Amino acid sequence: MSRAATLPGHPGVAAPARIGPNCLIQTVAALREALGAAAADQWLTSSGHADLVAAAPEAMVPESEFIRLTHDLYAGHGPALAATILARSGTRTGDYLLAHRIPAAARWLLPHLPARLALRILTRAIGAHAWTFAGSGEFRVEWGAAPVFAIAGCPGCRGRRSDFPDCTYYRATFERLLRALIAPGLTVHEESCEATGAPACRFRIDFPS
Ligand SMILES: [Zn+2]
Repeated sequence: MSRAATLPGHPGVAAPARIGPNCLIQTVAALREALGAAAADQWLTSSGHADLVAAAPEAMVPESEFIRLTHDLYAGHGPALAATILARSGTRTGDYLLAHRIPAAARWLLPHLPARLALRILTRAIGAHAWTFAGSGEFRVEWGAAPVFAIAGCPGCRGRRSDFPDCTYYRATFERLLRALIAPGLTVHEESCEATGAPACRFRIDFPS
């Protein structure tokens, strides 16, 4: 049994994997920012996402809905705009998590600690909640000179092909969180991506020098 499957509330391997609703809520918000609300809602409706126009999801959602929305964004708006919208969605998701999911004590303490120590502490919490953003994907951390967050089976690009790494939703979410909690000058770069044929999406964390 995988580690994720033992977590309380995990839907298990037989049921469709579910992830937190922010990937949909914040992507709709970012789409409305980019296109204007009327054009965004018109596109969502005509693309089979009318449910997202009617009401924002309030509970965990099937990961397949996020995968379908990202596919439709890339097909409907082209890779450059789709990647920009999804990056903005990731930043908005990070903002939401900082405001509602990260305890105030952690928000105060972590930036005061040495960066790698703070990252180790934060990573424990992120790993324990990995199924809420990785769905059926598998999250792990590689502790090299530059630490890496890796997701195998990443919902950000599942079934999609690209010439370069472009899971901008996850990259931006990680970067927003880590800049706020670890170091403002930190950067997150997706150095390999399943969309290009790599075995996992790997997000390298570079601390400011
Ligand atoms: Zn990727």
